[in-house]
Amino acid sequence: MQLNMKISITSSILSISLALTAFTGVAQDEKTELPPEATEFYEPVPPKIEAGESTTTAPSDAKILFDGSDLTGWVNEKDGSNPTWNIEGNILTVNPGTGGIKTKENFGDIQLHLEWRSPSEIQGDGQGRGNSGVIIMEKYEVQILDSYENETYTNGQAASIYKQSPPLVNATKAPGEWNTYDIIFTAPRFNEEGMLLSPAKITVLHNGVLVQNNYTLRGPTEYIGIPNYTKHDEKLPIHLQDHGNPVSFRNIWVRELN
Ligand code: MG
Repeated sequence: MQLNMKISITSSILSISLALTAFTGVAQDEKTELPPEATEFYEPVPPKIEAGESTTTAPSDAKILFDGSDLTGWVNEKDGSNPTWNIEGNILTVNPGTGGIKTKENFGDIQLHLEWRSPSEIQGDGQGRGNSGVIIMEKYEVQILDSYENETYTNGQAASIYKQSPPLVNATKAPGEWNTYDIIFTAPRFNEEGMLLSPAKITVLHNGVLVQNNYTLRGPTEYIGIPNYTKHDEKLPIHLQDHGNPVSFRNIWVRELN
């Protein structure tokens, strides 16, 4: 009787696994046919709050990625050439259409600080207003967007884990004002065979306010379809996105964990 019970439990688990496999299979097959809107949601809307002041100078053990002077630690993410983003008065600004930039150095588990602002001259709306992003490991995007009185899908607003997790609150400063992101990121782990051992996790403070609380990522950022992990290197570059808007940055530093 015990044996029968064991067999029956085992077969239940097996049928659940098969059902999940079948579901995943279907999802992947249909991925290319899904519209982008299939993974965008609008409610609940994160409450709007007023954040305080929160800039942070780098601690002594940080690697400075941008201190206002030059982009020696960065390359164009498309072709590896020297970036042509604009530097003026210690401020780095996206040169729209030239491509994103990525660090020459690779990173895994990190604490990352950066400051950004959307253009004071408001242009466009929704995803077209002040859009950039910090894409950790070139795969996991923390959205940068002018989300000050600018409606869009909430899992695509500023400080969202793009197309996955909306922020707990909307702490975005007005256009032209500086925002800070403090990000604690744990890279995913895979075994030799490529099986996921532990997913990526992320905590984000936006202007000093907790907006992502140790969120477990479902996989790399996907504009279309359902995220799905595939094995990748333990360390990869940090990428700042060119989404066609002149978003500015300053004071970027990173601390490697482990
Ligand atoms: Mg973006």
